[in-house]
Amino acid sequence: MRKQIVAGNWKMNCDLPDTQKLITDLKTGLVKEFNCELMIAPSTPFLYNAFNSTLDSDIEVIAQNVSEQEKGAFTGETSVDMLQSIGIKTVIIGHSERRDIYGETNELIAQKVKASVNKGMRVIFCCGEHLEIRKEDKHFDLVGNQVKIALQDLTEEQMSQIVIAYEPVWAIGTGETATPEQAQEMHAHLRNELSVLFNDSIAQNTSILYGGSVKPNNAAELFAKPDVDGGLVGGASLSAESFLNIANAI
Ligand code: PEP
Repeated sequence: MRKQIVAGNWKMNCDLPDTQKLITDLKTGLVKEFNCELMIAPSTPFLYNAFNSTLDSDIEVIAQNVSEQEKGAFTGETSVDMLQSIGIKTVIIGHSERRDIYGETNELIAQKVKASVNKGMRVIFCCGEHLEIRKEDKHFDLVGNQVKIALQDLTEEQMSQIVIAYEPVWAIGTGETATPEQAQEMHAHLRNELSVLFNDSIAQNTSILYGGSVKPNNAAELFAKPDVDGGLVGGASLSAESFLNIANAI
């Protein structure tokens, strides 16, 4: 059975007091068990504090990014070892903002994925197309290729450390969501790609999350689709109430 996951990507929001308040609000709202894993990705400077603050809860604190390099003269970067030394076990890699704003290529992203899984990290690998690509009907090829380049060198065993997040770029932070049918057809396509790249068991056991303007009012219909195993949530994860309502939709 693949895992259902709702992960909040806080991006470059929340200073230390805001981070602590949001975690307190989340913990206060965790009055029942959810049918999914709950993850939050605060900014790097607050990971250690957030990690310690959530030890007594079911929330996992995860990182938004990591370096492909092991150590050394890489100013501003954070290594896998550094994240692991403060207890972080999961990292988001390949977010479209990393690709588009910071020029991360498929090849660099593949290196980051490899560096992370080699050290035992779990990876939420993001992929997704821009609107022009969808209009040209090339989205299945493009997203399939992103997945292939990032994951093809992993062993079957390492694939158990991979979660895929399909995030159509035109839906991120825009308020425009992919329809449940659009999400389902891409997730089914990616599952098929995984069975070609690896095998059917890996295709069936890899969680594929949807991301792109997931809100409390659209989460249930997205998560109801058979190949949608939860969500990667940006804006709506900055309020404990909306994030927990989204998790409740699983
Ligand atoms: C994201 O950035 O991963 C995301 C899905 O953002 P939003 O939910 O705000 O569209």
